[in-house]
Amino acid sequence: MLMLLHLSPTKPLFSPPNLRRPVSPRSSLSIRAIDAAQIFDYETQLKSEYRKSSALKIAVLGFGNFGQFLSKTLIRHGHDLITHSRSDYSHAANSIGARFFHNPHDLCEQHPDVVLLCTSILSTESVLTSFPFQRLRRSTLFVDVLSVKEFPRTLFLKYLPNEFDILCTHPMFGPESGKHSWSGLPFVYDKVRIGDQACRNERCDKFLRVFENEGCRMVEMSCEEHDKHAAGSQFVTHTMGRVLEKFGVESSPINTKGYETLLDLVDNTSSDSFELYYGLFMYNQNALEQLERLDMAFESIKKELFGRLHQVYRNQMFGGETELKMLNNGAVPMKEISSSSSSS
Ligand code: NAP
Repeated sequence: MLMLLHLSPTKPLFSPPNLRRPVSPRSSLSIRAIDAAQIFDYETQLKSEYRKSSALKIAVLGFGNFGQFLSKTLIRHGHDLITHSRSDYSHAANSIGARFFHNPHDLCEQHPDVVLLCTSILSTESVLTSFPFQRLRRSTLFVDVLSVKEFPRTLFLKYLPNEFDILCTHPMFGPESGKHSWSGLPFVYDKVRIGDQACRNERCDKFLRVFENEGCRMVEMSCEEHDKHAAGSQFVTHTMGRVLEKFGVESSPINTKGYETLLDLVDNTSSDSFELYYGLFMYNQNALEQLERLDMAFESIKKELFGRLHQVYRNQMFGGETELKMLNNGAVPMKEISSSSSSS
């Protein structure tokens, strides 16, 4: 809290004391407390200088659903956000305190410390090949958040200048599942290429610290390993969500807990674009195998059910005759039948 001395213009502060009449301090000066930071508040100035010096300038490429969702938290952590997207999101950017650049050249000329790729999986190659890297600083850190990992890793190594650092990440949550908190939600990352200098490592760690401080479960894992796990979990989850959405699940007055989980699953997956889902399928080489396994599992469950149903029909239609025929064909050993019929 800042203390402000309020001086009365008519009475000098250091007038010689009147020995006969004690001076009332109230009459010449008063002290008021104010909360707002003043320009001469040195402590506040130092704090904001420190914040500025430790903040990263982050350029978000692709300011759609997920790009905006992430940006809000990055800004809350004191980082300076500049953005670019195919569509005009200048209002959305201004509303959260970020700056929007229509032209990627202008964005690059701001010399961000980090470029964060939040575009769709399918557009990755065209975005990379048309991006003016030459306008960035030579040591820029490139980060992606794509839901598949081997694919962007390969493209980064192919197209990015050798001097750039590369961090591949996948925040395994979205605007729905991470709406209230990121606490305990998995954040997968692979430091694909980070230069030896301490400042490069510090920059990468500073970026990761946002997720750490939000309480994410930080999982360091290779891109290859991620894709294996994600096909069996995330792709299957999205597929089931989409199947149930097509099936048309609706809330009822007697929802069980299990059914509520299904409704939540549909809510969680239906807000993601089909392009994202298609990207999970197209650019994770393990996804097709998982889709086929799902299909086989569904068929096998159907066969099991229909097999039993078929048996019930046979018994109803032919009664004991079926049993006799089976006996004559030697399907069931005679001994077992006679012992079971004598015991009943
Ligand atoms: P998305 O449909 O995967 O991507 C939309 C974004 O891609 C928009 O910013 C869009 O820009 C841009 N884009 C699409 N086609 C483009 C093209 N041809 N050229 C340039 N930009 C193009 O939806 P999203 O949910 O926002 O996901 C963005 C990325 O985050 C994806 O890679 C996704 O895998 C990843 N991710 C998403 C989630 C999630 O829960 N949604 C979670 C983790 C990771 P415009 O809007 O300007 O057209």
